[in-house]
Amino acid sequence: MVETKDKVKPPAAPEAVTSLYADRQKVYPKAVSGTVRRAKWLILALCLGFYYLVPWLRWDRGPGAPSQAVLVDMQNARLYFLWIEIWPQEVYYLTGLLILGAIGLFMATSLFGRVWCGFTCPQTVWTDLFMLVERWIQGDRNARMKLDQQPMSSAKFMKKAATHAVWLLISAATGGAWIMYFQDAPTVVRELFTGQSSLSTYFFFGLFTATTYVFAGWAREQLCIYMCPWPRFQAAMLDENSLVVTYREWRGEPRGKAKAEGIGDCVECSACVNVCPTGIDIRDGIQMACIGCGLCIDACDDIMQRLDRPQGLIAFETWNNLNASTKAAASCPPGPERRKQGMAARRVPKFIRARTLVYMGVLAAVAGVMLGSYALRTTLSLAVIRERAPLFVRLSDGGVRNGYNLKLANKLREEGNYVLVLEAPRGVQATVQDAPLDSSGRPVIHSRGDGITQWRVLVTAAPGLHLPESVPVTFRLLDAAGHSVTATSSVFLGPKP
Ligand code: SF4
Ligand code: SF4
Repeated sequence: MVETKDKVKPPAAPEAVTSLYADRQKVYPKAVSGTVRRAKWLILALCLGFYYLVPWLRWDRGPGAPSQAVLVDMQNARLYFLWIEIWPQEVYYLTGLLILGAIGLFMATSLFGRVWCGFTCPQTVWTDLFMLVERWIQGDRNARMKLDQQPMSSAKFMKKAATHAVWLLISAATGGAWIMYFQDAPTVVRELFTGQSSLSTYFFFGLFTATTYVFAGWAREQLCIYMCPWPRFQAAMLDENSLVVTYREWRGEPRGKAKAEGIGDCVECSACVNVCPTGIDIRDGIQMACIGCGLCIDACDDIMQRLDRPQGLIAFETWNNLNASTKAAASCPPGPERRKQGMAARRVPKFIRARTLVYMGVLAAVAGVMLGSYALRTTLSLAVIRERAPLFVRLSDGGVRNGYNLKLANKLREEGNYVLVLEAPRGVQATVQDAPLDSSGRPVIHSRGDGITQWRVLVTAAPGLHLPESVPVTFRLLDAAGHSVTATSSVFLGPKP
């Protein structure tokens, strides 16, 4: 090591480092009833009913076709949704659906805050279901807390084991239902139970069962707080007119005992904290951990009702109204007059505003394009691929020949025969390998039902024709009545004139 004249200073002693890791404080949400809770139960029943039952819906598509109403058929590269059948080349419909879903989510967030997180997100729905099971078996908040503090006993073991057994059953049903969106539902059930399913089916069944069990049974609010990216940027969709779950501080503060003089409406009962599935205190203001489930609204409304005070100390409220109420109530002492002044200053939230108009415009445009393209969708499409090696062939008689591959995609179950007509300069003719000719000498090509049929076509320019280097040509298919059913353009290449 080279010594220098200057003394090397030892590194400064590190300042006290705050650990970035915090142990999880287990949350024991208390049961609550009220309008929001009822709405959440209804949405939960609809979401779960839809998820578990849809694969069992049947849809008759005729012989040889799957009879499941909603099916992602990976093997045959098809997506079936009732009467709609999406082919791989139409994957843009899925892109359109994803865009609709994303913009719809942005709009819902800008109008009502995190309603997706609080009411319909699968993590919320399944966690709610798991909590319901936990509550049925182990009891409500206090009973569960007490049970966790007790040493292990046979009674505690039985309760815990029963809870996990039911969770695992629900998880298995969830994992199995997911597989049914990709394979015939009755077959999935039969093969899963008789050990006839493929290894990949068992793998995905196990994967989705395990993720449901871990996410809804163990991870719960941690997934929303630490893993989900949505809370990190959903604030960008909120503005001063968005309705978000809010504690009306102007009305609740200063907090204190219900019978104390000169205090606001918050009696510090902690009911709102006890029911919160993420274990936070809404009175601390807008927080990333608040999933907007609104259960604290029900809890507080119940307390207000018992105290014979107006409900709505916690409510879906806009930032604008919160500010207006705070200003109007500032000069009033806590009590009825403050409530009256504060509530009178509120205005009906502005639902139609620049942001929501833009979202609505994009939604309408994407939906319009999708509907339009679906309405104009053809059941028979022709793709022509020019052979590039060689670009053209000079024949011994002086003629020039180009080769093409025709791909005829028939989205109907019925097969068909079509006359191929080439629209090209006089003297340029098409012959189709292995295809019969009609009475006029034109090639007749066959299309199989529900699939792609390929034909090789040779286009020949007669000797002595003076053509440019590149000539546009059109391949047209005619049905038995001579009507054009589809056409595709390409080019015919030859030597430089
Ligand atoms: S439930 Fe209402 S009264 Fe009770 S602590 Fe929460 S805000 Fe205050
Ligand atoms: S603070 Fe209220 S709205 Fe937010 S997560 Fe907790 S209970 Fe739900």
